[in-house]
Amino acid sequence: MKPLFKFRRGVHPPYRKLTASSPIQRAKTPEVAVIPLKQHAGAPAQPVVSPKESVSVGQLIGKSSAFISANVHSSVTGVVKEISPMPTPSGEKVLSVVIETTEDETPEPKPIRNPDELSGEEIVNIIAESGIVGMGGAGFPTHVKLKPPKPIDTLIINGCECEPYLTGDHRLMLEKPDEIIQGIELLMKALNVRECYIGIEDNKPDAIKLFEEKLRGRPIKVVEVKTKYPQGAEKVLIKSITGREVPVGGLPLDVGVVVQNVGTAHAVYEAVILGKPLYERVVTVTGEVNEPKNLLVRIGTPISQLIEECGGYKEGAARLIMGGPMMGIALFSDEVPVIKTTTGLIALPGLPEVRRYPCINCGTCIDVCPMGLIPKMFPILYEKGRFQEAAEEFDVMNCMECGCCEYECPSRVPIVQSIRAIKSRLRREGKR
Ligand code: SF4
Ligand code: SF4
Repeated sequence: MKPLFKFRRGVHPPYRKLTASSPIQRAKTPEVAVIPLKQHAGAPAQPVVSPKESVSVGQLIGKSSAFISANVHSSVTGVVKEISPMPTPSGEKVLSVVIETTEDETPEPKPIRNPDELSGEEIVNIIAESGIVGMGGAGFPTHVKLKPPKPIDTLIINGCECEPYLTGDHRLMLEKPDEIIQGIELLMKALNVRECYIGIEDNKPDAIKLFEEKLRGRPIKVVEVKTKYPQGAEKVLIKSITGREVPVGGLPLDVGVVVQNVGTAHAVYEAVILGKPLYERVVTVTGEVNEPKNLLVRIGTPISQLIEECGGYKEGAARLIMGGPMMGIALFSDEVPVIKTTTGLIALPGLPEVRRYPCINCGTCIDVCPMGLIPKMFPILYEKGRFQEAAEEFDVMNCMECGCCEYECPSRVPIVQSIRAIKSRLRREGKR
């Protein structure tokens, strides 16, 4: 029997992968695309087009402005209507290029490059030009991760998709395995690593079997990991697969590892081999909608349009989450655009009134914390203003805000809220 790689602690929320067998379909081209110039970690891109200018799909419209930043491309062929601050899923208004579509053009890219003729550096440059960012939801510019300041010996590809409801990565693995594998090989060449693992949760046996067959005889190993939340968190996955522990406040590169998502590997294939910049992505639209789907969506498409394409909201839908239900963000409106980090849109019923009680010291939050923290301390330290102590003695900065502690807490203590407040206070004071 094959060993199953697992991590200690974590939780088992109901997975509700309603769209696991729904093939990816192309969403309609928006009549107007609102493309924010900041959809990634780091500095916003600077506009390089002007109002009334004609643009074509895939054209550069925002230029990366700093080391940690990313290029932005048009997702439609049309005319720039305006460049102004527009609401985004985070609730923040961000300078955006608003483009009125004039032609419903869907280019069919064909291979234009031979990967054997490219050096690692050339691959990284194409990835930077193409505006690729982490497609798992973090949005960190990929080219920056590929220029690590420390030696790297292992690449891990994250195919876990451990959040409930989301199925875009699963479908991509089933429908585009050869493209993902070519993307992984390009990433290995860019990093100059010989060791690579692709971690897939054991609730996707079809994807595991497919990749095992395709990767036979290649230096990329499939690792079947246990289905458990948050298996796909970088630090958890590194520990499950390599046994290495990222130090407190550290990064995967501190233990010689780079982690990339399967969606990112696919985007790298499209950019490097097909010459296609990142202007569309797979989004799972699910939950309380009439026809849940996996859609291939152009960046800048209004979320309301996708809900309509999925048959509209069911009666009782009261909340809309972007991302997974555990770590995603609640949207204040569906009149905001899909961005590069929109993994999913989940319509959910209203929350029953949450009654909170005092901590009963049951220790459940400690038992489930994948980072080995003592979550029950954070609300207390926050209340008392002991922020420095939370950092120095209780490693608050090592918390990845996965929400496992609060999910299992019988008293519904608002632990994650306290953690976020402590972290933001420490950052504001420049102490972390
Ligand atoms: S303390 Fe942080 S890392 Fe630990 S379970 Fe809670 S949210 Fe997750
Ligand atoms: S799970 Fe909740 S009630 Fe139990 S120790 Fe943690 S904070 Fe207290």
